[in-house]
Parts: sequence; structure tokens; C-alpha cells
Amino acid sequence: MTIKRTIDQIHELYASGESTPGEITKAALDRIERDNAGLNAFLMVDREGAERRAKAMNAGIKADLTHKPLAGIPVAIKDNLCAEGLRTTCASRILGNYVPPYTATAVRKLEEAGAIIVGKTNLDEFAMGGSTENSAFGPSRNPWNVDYVPGGSSGGSAVAVAAGHVPVSLGSDTGGSIRQPASFCGIVGLKPTYGRVSRYGLVAFASSLDQIGPLANNVRDTARMLQVISGHDRYDSTSANVEVPDYLGALTGDIKGLRIGVPSECFGEGLDAEVREKVEAAIKLLEDRGARVVEVSLPHTRYVVAVYYIIATAEASSNLARFDGVRYGFRAEESRTLSEMYRRTRDEGFGAEVKRRIMLGTFVLSSGYYDAYYEKAQRVRAMLVNDFAEAFRKCDVIATPTAPTPPFRIGEKSDDPLAMYLGDIYTVTINLAGVPAISIPCGVSKDNLPIGIQFIGPHFEEARLLNAAYAMEK
Ligand code: GLN
Repeated sequence: MTIKRTIDQIHELYASGESTPGEITKAALDRIERDNAGLNAFLMVDREGAERRAKAMNAGIKADLTHKPLAGIPVAIKDNLCAEGLRTTCASRILGNYVPPYTATAVRKLEEAGAIIVGKTNLDEFAMGGSTENSAFGPSRNPWNVDYVPGGSSGGSAVAVAAGHVPVSLGSDTGGSIRQPASFCGIVGLKPTYGRVSRYGLVAFASSLDQIGPLANNVRDTARMLQVISGHDRYDSTSANVEVPDYLGALTGDIKGLRIGVPSECFGEGLDAEVREKVEAAIKLLEDRGARVVEVSLPHTRYVVAVYYIIATAEASSNLARFDGVRYGFRAEESRTLSEMYRRTRDEGFGAEVKRRIMLGTFVLSSGYYDAYYEKAQRVRAMLVNDFAEAFRKCDVIATPTAPTPPFRIGEKSDDPLAMYLGDIYTVTINLAGVPAISIPCGVSKDNLPIGIQFIGPHFEEARLLNAAYAMEK
């Protein structure tokens, strides 16, 4: 069993001189090497680069601790985030051996804060999925039980943290891809407000929904990561010019008087009995700590999966048009005409789920169907934003399950896309409304698999979510 260390614990080892970034990083790389054949969390490990950067930090580490919040911390990043010189695949064949010439803003900020990027983690191809089974390079496995999925699409980033390879990682969340794998792997995952974190350098899936966010073993590390990656970026016009508060400082654990909204629509049909029991017990615990439970309503909940899969696939079909065999790595061989080259490259390069979504997205955007599907979905999206505005008049945070079931077996849903999509019922609404949400562990099923609770807050109120999560963690 691996010892899991938090950022604070690693920093204590540095401060006392008991360890160095070189040693901690080498230990992380050794564990990854030992485990990766079984867990498949990493698609690429940058041993040489990580060791070199870590060793270079050894001498100055005590000084760095005073001003670099992630000094000497090994970090893993999802393989849809660009880092200069490191192969980026999005777990797809179509990118071939694409090596980006630039670094995503969130990744650059990690590096400036002293983090050491050790590798790129596995995901559902182009972040489309909820189990990491859609990776062209094989599924990741849940460290709690390797017969089960770790969730997705940021499955590799969740496994890397849950298995103790790295204390923290980055994922991306378009409809739950940080929160659901965090829930399935028994760790913390946060989807920031749309615009809180720059998307520059994140390979786009659905641009109006995508956000980068942290996964960690505890709330403090999550807060610290968010602190580092947040803020306005002139390279992303949708990043928000809104002041970034002190997230670590907000962690008081005091939730007296906090109004927790519980939407009945999220506790009805389709919710696993064990998940309901654990989530309700967690809410009760917060009540015992001084929070007040109030009933709220999210009346459009039954439409959210349909709305999400119209809007997300529409945007995806447009974003993926750029993969044509000309601009990026992979190109099918021996085509006689240009259009045949496009067709064969995309046929051989994309996996089944990505193709399904391109077809769905193209269909809902096509003339004659645009009004019936895409435009209607946009209208319902506006209503969802309104639902949250109404709910947040009555409460400070909303609590729901993160996923309707505990982790499922590898292969259990992979032939049934609709069953997979329905698993996103509690997470996609948050991206459609652009609000922030966090998943934190709230129990374990009778099969010894983790269950998570989700807290949702108003725009830019991540500090409030983190503190509610912190109170529960304590
Ligand atoms: N499971 C959802 C989907 O398949 C969410 C994915 C994500 O957040 N990237 O689209």
C-alpha cells in the first residue's frame, strides 16, 4: 500500500530537510512505473524532465517554500492539456504523435508555482465519456478494485491521486469529468465557475462548458491548486476578470447558519439506495454542525441530460472539424483524393464514441433540425440558469449526489451509450449553468467502493463550497 502525502506533509519534509524535491519526485516516478501496467493511469511519463527539474530545485527548496505554493510538488495533468514538448494525445489516435509547441496557462501557472509535471494522464477520447473506457489506449482501472471503472473522463488524473502517485492533478470537466471520477475514486474534485480558470491550451470538447480544475486527496490541497490556476488570462477571452479570493484562508470549517438546499428532483427515481443513504447521512452531519437544510427545486432536472447531449455534441462536432489529417499528427495512408484522405483519416483516427457524437452534433445543427433541437436546448439552458438563480435565493449551497450509482464494472455499460449518459444527470446541469461544484467522499458502498456528495454554489463562490467540503471532511 502506498503512503499518500498531502502538499502540507511534503512541504514539512522539505522544511525540516528530511527530504528533497529530487527524492519525492523519484519516489513518485518509481510508484508510477510499478503500478502503471495494472492501473493505466498515465499515457506518458516524463521521467527525465521531471527528475531534472526536481533536482534543480533541491538547493533552493527552503527559500522556495516561502513564496511558491507548490514548491517541489509532483503533479499529473490530463492528456488534453498542452505542455510544451510533451506529447498530447487526448487518448485519440487522430493526434498521432502531436507535440504541442506551447503550454496551457493552467499548466504554466502550476510550473511557476513550483510544481513538477511528472506525466500526462489517461482519459476518455477527447474527454467524451464517464468511465475512461473510451480511451484509444485502454481503460484506466479503479485502485479500490481494478475490475471497476475509475469514472471519467479524467479517470487517469483521479487514479493518479487515489493511488498515491501524486498528491494533486489537473482534469477538465465539461459535464462532470472531474467530479464523477473524484467520486468513483474516493477523492476531492472541483469544477470551477466557467471563466474562473483559463482554457488556453486545453483541447476543446464543448467550449461553452469546458473548465479545467483540480483533483486532490483533501480539501486544502484542492483549495491551493485552485488558487494557483485561477485568474484572468488575455489568451482566453472567456476567462473572467474577477478577483481571486484567498481560498485557503476561507477554510475555517465554520458552517453555522449555512443554508444547504436539497432539491427533491435529485433524490428521486434512478438514484441508487446506498448512494441516497450516504448522501443523506452526510447532509445530516452538516446539519449537526450548525448548517440549516432547506428544500429547493430544480424543476428542469429531467431535461438536463437531453439538453447537455445536444449542446455538447453540437459544439464537439464543430471543434473536431479541425482534425483532418492536414494540421495534426495522424493521416491515413494511400488516399487518391483529398476528400478520401479526410474521410479515411477521420474514420481510422476517431473512436466509436467520438464518431457517435460528431454525427449527433452535426444532426442537431443541420438545417431543418436546428430549431427543433439545438435552439430548443439553448432555451432550456437559459431556464436552468434561472432555476439556480431561484434556488440560490433560498440557500447558500446546494447538495446532491455526484453520481446516481457507485462505480460500475469495466464493460458493464460500454455497449449502452444511453445508460452511460444517464449517469451524468447530477453533474451536467452545473456546466450548462456555468456554476462551480465540488465532489467530496461521503462514504463507501457495501462492495467497498467510494460514494461522493456534490456541493454546488453560485458563480465565483468556490470559497463557500470549499469551506462546506472542509467542514464535512473534518
Ligand atoms: N460524461 C460526460 C460526457 O460524456 C461528461 C464528460 C466531461 O465532463 N468531459 O460528455
